[in-house]
Amino acid sequence: MMEYKTDILVVGAGPSGSLAAREASKNGADVILIDLKSEIGSPKRCAEGVSKQGLIDLGIQPDPRWIARKSNGVRLVSPDQTSVWLSEDTIELPESGYILERKVFDKHMAMDAARAGAKIMIKTRATGLKRVDDGIVVTAEHMGEEIEIFAHIVIAADGPGSRIGRWAGLDCNTKFDNMESCVQYEMAGLEMENNNVIQLYFGSVAPGGYTWIFPKGEDIANVGIGVLKTHTDKTAIEHLDEFIKNCPETQHAQPVEINVGGDPVGGVIKERYGDNILVVGDAAGFVNPLTGGGINSALESGAYAGIVAAQAISDKDYSKKNLKEYEKLTDEHIGKNYNKYKKAKEYLLSLSDEELDKIAHEFVKVDIDEISPKTLIKMLIKVSPKALLKLGKLF
Ligand SMILES: Cc1cc2nc3c(=O)[nH]c(=O)nc-3n(C[C@H](O)[C@H](O)[C@H](O)COP(=O)(O)OP(=O)(O)OC[C@H]3O[C@@H](n4cnc5c(N)ncnc54)[C@H](O)[C@@H]3O)c2cc1C
Repeated sequence: MMEYKTDILVVGAGPSGSLAAREASKNGADVILIDLKSEIGSPKRCAEGVSKQGLIDLGIQPDPRWIARKSNGVRLVSPDQTSVWLSEDTIELPESGYILERKVFDKHMAMDAARAGAKIMIKTRATGLKRVDDGIVVTAEHMGEEIEIFAHIVIAADGPGSRIGRWAGLDCNTKFDNMESCVQYEMAGLEMENNNVIQLYFGSVAPGGYTWIFPKGEDIANVGIGVLKTHTDKTAIEHLDEFIKNCPETQHAQPVEINVGGDPVGGVIKERYGDNILVVGDAAGFVNPLTGGGINSALESGAYAGIVAAQAISDKDYSKKNLKEYEKLTDEHIGKNYNKYKKAKEYLLSLSDEELDKIAHEFVKVDIDEISPKTLIKMLIKVSPKALLKLGKLF
């Protein structure tokens, strides 16, 4: 059996893993990055919306090779089809900026990790893990052969179905209730009213979540849905097919790809670090609980993990205590608003279709520039004092 030895092993070459590998390598550590896929980035499981500023802050220069389209706003659609149009210039919009070509983006992030010095092993699936003196041995299947990789530190970047952290003894399960079931088609032949904005449809059209149209071209878009199984007896695909049939923009479009996946929207996992291990990205629950967006936080958490792990290698101290800085950085920069987002989501989900429509009707009457927290509260009182009470209870 082939045996490998490295300072840091990163399992998973999604955005979080590649950034972890890039930063750890840049900071002087020996790094191996493995992914079970034959082609990094493919298949995608993502609507591909990302914040431009979030990329720039991490030193990722926007590159036309992996940008499918720029988006400059959001259209929010209530159950009776009332549209509220928000633009980037008037309001800060999360996950709005670019619609990526994730298959190309993920590959480029891995290339950056390679350029920084990381060794990349594709078609390499981690199958088990055991703790040994001063590190961890991960067993893997590499191109059909069983191998072992020893590392002082393992970074678990293995996505929403993560198992690495659990194998290492961390309390890091995502509850079933907190996993949004998502399905999406990439479609051609859409007739979009505005193909430069992302569109979100709320209410019983998507119980527990929302339906989206993210434009990737003149008549091309990702059309998808996220639902919570606790809120519906139907499957996500049944809801999505119904939406596509009824929505004038998608009625005549055809799918060229289907993506199915889970989105962990319950917030950060209980234990995201321990002796010799750090958990990043979706595996750690770094997904905005309101929007379900996780690319930016995956990149950012990966970068912090890479930096902290490389420092631990240089200290020759891989203990939980010495890795604690990762928790501090991610709490400070990523997780701090998650509770607020969770409450906002709870509020949104507590509203009936009728209440959502009434709020949308009020929104279209006012100039978005003039909306302050005070005017928003006044609007909500007008729509439904009961609904506002629900919000008050949550905060
Ligand atoms: C349908 C859908 C739409 C979404 N839309 C958006 C959006 O528009 N914007 C946004 O910001 N976020 C979106 N998200 C969330 C976003 O896709 C994730 O937050 C992001 O991909 C997380 O990155 P990651 O690196 O943590 O994990 P992933 O991208 O999931 O990468 C994990 C990697 O680990 C590999 N792996 C897993 N197990 C093993 C193993 N045992 N051995 C080796 N390799 C392994 C996988 O092959 C994969 O490459 C969406 C999610 C879904 C499901």
